[in-house]
Formats: sequence, C-alpha cells, structure tokens
Amino acid sequence: MSENFINQKYIEDLLEEAKHADDALIGGALNKAERGETLEHREIAALMVNENPQHLERIFDIAGKIKRRIYGNRIVIFAPLYVSNFCVNRCAYCSFNHGHNFSRRKLTMDEVREEVKILEKMGHKRLALEAGENDAECSIDYILECIKTIYDMKFENGEIRRVNVNIAATTTENYRKLKAAGIGTYILFQETYHEPTYNSVHLAGPKKDFIWHLNAFDRAQDAGIDDVGGGVLFGLADPYFDVMGLLLHNEHLEKKYNVGFHTISVPRLCPAAGMNINDFPHLVDDETFAKIVAVIRIAVPFTGMILSTRETRDMRKKLLHAGISQVSAGSSTTVGGYSRRGSNEKISSQFMVNDDRDAVSIISELMDDGYIPSFCTACYRSGRTGDRFMSLAKSGQVGNVCLPNALMTLCEYSMDYGDITFREKAAVIIEKEIPHIASETIRKKTVENIEKIRNGAGRDFYV
Ligand code: SF4
Ligand code: SF4
Repeated sequence: MSENFINQKYIEDLLEEAKHADDALIGGALNKAERGETLEHREIAALMVNENPQHLERIFDIAGKIKRRIYGNRIVIFAPLYVSNFCVNRCAYCSFNHGHNFSRRKLTMDEVREEVKILEKMGHKRLALEAGENDAECSIDYILECIKTIYDMKFENGEIRRVNVNIAATTTENYRKLKAAGIGTYILFQETYHEPTYNSVHLAGPKKDFIWHLNAFDRAQDAGIDDVGGGVLFGLADPYFDVMGLLLHNEHLEKKYNVGFHTISVPRLCPAAGMNINDFPHLVDDETFAKIVAVIRIAVPFTGMILSTRETRDMRKKLLHAGISQVSAGSSTTVGGYSRRGSNEKISSQFMVNDDRDAVSIISELMDDGYIPSFCTACYRSGRTGDRFMSLAKSGQVGNVCLPNALMTLCEYSMDYGDITFREKAAVIIEKEIPHIASETIRKKTVENIEKIRNGAGRDFYV
C-alpha cells in the first residue's frame, strides 16, 4: 500500500533547530562520523546548516577519509544511453517536457545497435538506459527490446555487461519484467521531496502524483529489484530539505526491505531548452553543493554516489574528493547523440553537458589525479545485489573485490582502447596498487589475470 513516509513538518523542524546547533553538537557529530558511527537526523541537519569554516574543513576532511576507507581511490565509469524523448509529463525543469515543441524520436533497434557500437568503442561496459514516459511511443516492451538488443551484442572486446535503467515510475508487473530482463540498478530521481514544490514543478502527467512516484522503489523491491538508486535534482527546493528527504527515503527502504539505496545521484539543475533557469529560486552554489555531497557521504558511507557531466571539470575534481564514487564519461544526453556527434544537425538534449571531453581524456585525467578508473560490473554478475552487497560493503571486505576488479578492468581497457602512453600510465597505477589487495590469494590471482590480459590469453576476469 502506498504511503507518504516524508514528514514535511518533521524535516522543517529539524532544519530550524539545526540553525541553533552549538559547536558541541556539531563537534560531537563529527567525532562520531570519524569513528564510523551512524549520525542522528538532528546531527546531519546541523552539519549541513552550519557555515563555520573550521567545521566545514573537518566535514570535507572526514568525508574524504570515509571515501578513501570504503572506496579507496577507485572511480566507476558509466555512460547514459538515451533511447526515447517522447514524454507525456510536463516537468518544468526538463527540455523533454510535453509542452516543449521539438521533433521527438525514439531509436529503432538498428539505431540502438549503432549507439552501443560507439559506446563500446569508447570502452564502456556499464550503461544507464534513459527514456521519457510515454506508454504509447515507448512502452515497457520497447524498453525490454532495447535491453535485450544491448545484451545480445558481442564485440571483439567483449560486451556491455550491465544495463542500469532510468525510466519513469511504473507498476510492480513492469518492474518484474525489468528484473527478468536482467537490469542492474533501477534508477529513479524523486527530483524533490518537498511536496508543495514537487506539485508546482510537475504540471501534468502521471509523474505529477507525488505518492505514486515516491513509492516506486517499494514496487520495484516487491518485484524483486533489490538494487535501486535514488536522487534529487538539486535546485528545485531547499537543498537541505531534499538531503533529509533522501535520508528518510533510504531509511524507509532499509526498514522495509533490509537494504536502502544502492546509489544516490546528485544532479544539479542546469539550463535546458524550453526552460529559464532564473525561474528557479533555490539554485545551489558550488560551495553549498560540495558541502551537501560531503554530508551525504558522511551520512550514508556505504551508498555509491553518482555525478554526471552536468558538472564542470573543476567541480567534478572537487566532488570526487568529497565523496563521489561513480562518474559518467564522454556522455551525450540526446537520443541518438553518440552517432550524430559532430554533425551540424540540430538535436535536443535533456540538459546541457558541462564536461564534454571524450571518455578517454576524462579517464586519463582521473589516473593523473591518482584515481583508478574502474569498469567493474562484477557484483551484479555474481548475484551480489541488494542486502548481499550491503553486508559485504559493511563488513569492510568490499575492497578485496573492488580493487582487484578495478585493476583487471583498467588493464583490459588500457589494452583495448589506450595508446602506448595510456597503457604505460595504467601499468604504473596497477603495479602501485596490487600490493594493497589485502588477501594474498586474491592478490596472486589478480597478478596472474593481469598477465593473461596483457598477453591476450584471457579477459573479463572478476572476483
Ligand atoms: Fe519527461 Fe523525465 Fe523530462 Fe519529466 S524529467 S519531462 S518525466 S523526461
Ligand atoms: Fe561495484 Fe561490486 Fe565492482 Fe565493487 S566489485 S566496483 S561494488 S560492481
């Protein structure tokens, strides 16, 4: 049964109280975070609302430490694949909204294959399939056909190994079909947890129903999809309210299904065709946004955090330190955008991309900055999803699988897609990181597998 587990008054009272939080409360919360203890709502609210530079410095420092302890220096890479921009909803912030007049399209299966070929050439193994909501033009059967088409494609260098899906809130029956199709994470942004704002920016269409949208993950979990990824669009409502909303949603899922969000995405409102960004009074500045990312990292240490190419290169760098663990690279937010890149054709994207470098440049720069780009998809393929994944993460053992998988997939990527300079750079990182694999057995196996990849004697290894 649908329910509203977002208590608006409770969040507003928390945020009001947080304005009067003293140094002892904030210092105590930071000490708890440093010891790896769970924070109370009032402590998280106080961390967010505070603007004391000394506390802020500690917030970033602790968020960075948590990130390094749990995720090391690995960054998982993915790319979005937009298959249809037909949409019956009127979301005031989105260029695909029904009221915006432009020539709409959905990809044919041949076009899906064309896009995937290009994404595979960029080295991607993990895609996020994106579509607007329109049952007539883009039915669940069409989405299922897209997923099958992608999984059926085989290339010399392997295949797309994980398709995450970001489509509109749907029925339990449709979620069952997505589960049967073998999707990775089901991603859906609540956009904002502040119901009055939600109602004011969702002008028409099924998405206008706040409760239907809010309970989508319950239906997905009931259908057996145990990896769900939440998010809000920062800039629609008070960002602190939305962080508390995200956390209440996560707790609701933990209580009911024993597992909360697998990932949290942190898109920030940016200009798009058919909307005027100045109509939105809650735009979030860079400093506040970085603080929010750091506080989320502290509040939910075991939840992956995803950043898109909405952010500039400099902001991405800053946010990677503050807690981001997954980024998109070489992205197009346009239906058919990968095959039409570079053409002069006028095509409509969902939002403006601020980091438009190609995938290999982004990945190479990540290595320059000391990160290990990872193309790992192992958990989903080994059935380590939902609470099985969370118990591995919380046991502290996840590094024993993530690190070797990151190194093996980076090696494979460097052999398949890198030039000599890229390969050398990757080899330096791999040699440096191998000793950090704690388990001797896994360490030895990783060394053997990396040799096999380099000699062309095997590929697609994971633990
Ligand atoms: Fe449609 Fe999604 Fe855009 Fe809303 S945000 S108009 S549902 S594509
Ligand atoms: Fe993600 Fe699992 Fe791979 Fe770690 S081992 S990067 S958690 S898929």
